Amino acid sequence: MWGECEAFFDCLVDPYLRGAQKRRFGIGIGKYVACFCAYNVEPMLKLFLIAIVVLVIGGLMAAVFRSTSANASSPATQPAIPPEIAEKLVPDANNKVHLTQAEWKQILTPEKYHILREGGTECAFDNEFFNNHDPGTYACAGCGQVLFASDHKFDSGTGWPSFFKAVDPKAVETLEDSMMGMRRVEILCSRCGGHLGHIFEDGPKPTGLRYCVDSASLTFIKQSDSPTAQPPH
Ligand SMILES: [Zn+2]
Repeated sequence: MWGECEAFFDCLVDPYLRGAQKRRFGIGIGKYVACFCAYNVEPMLKLFLIAIVVLVIGGLMAAVFRSTSANASSPATQPAIPPEIAEKLVPDANNKVHLTQAEWKQILTPEKYHILREGGTECAFDNEFFNNHDPGTYACAGCGQVLFASDHKFDSGTGWPSFFKAVDPKAVETLEDSMMGMRRVEILCSRCGGHLGHIFEDGPKPTGLRYCVDSASLTFIKQSDSPTAQPPH
């Protein structure tokens, strides 16, 4: 019976597949498993083997489902801000807000938290605003302070949104940064201390500056979305 099964299987595949191809497709192993299950085992053992296969497939499906659920529970949109944290986002007399890292983590997406609070850098040419030409303003994605305007945005060719000036020089603070073995000047939101990017002295006129900013640290307020941008009647 075993031999008949092997011969039957070989007849099915041999005309089409050579030895290397059979190995590649696992045909050799499949043949022996099929014959073993079909002819050479006790019914209880067959059930046991089938149960193992079902459990393995079920486990794989459960893992995929858990992974999908985890992605669904961490949306890319900004999480809702609890009232107690919203109160702390109101700037004090010195135009500062003070949240703990745990509170920032609660109200920012993982990407925005990484950029703003851990000084991360996003990928060039694969971010939200490097190619945005709509008129409007750019606010800090952490605290909402307006930082940059589309009028001062230019195409630097770097793949990151670039501005030759800030809306208000006091809105952006600088800090010398020697990470990665390079001396650069980091730019931070003056209200919340969030990392925005770096500033370089190779920008266009009239300032000669280039504010190289991570999109994830910004929220774009389109001109038509802004109540102050409505034309007077
Ligand atoms: Zn801020």
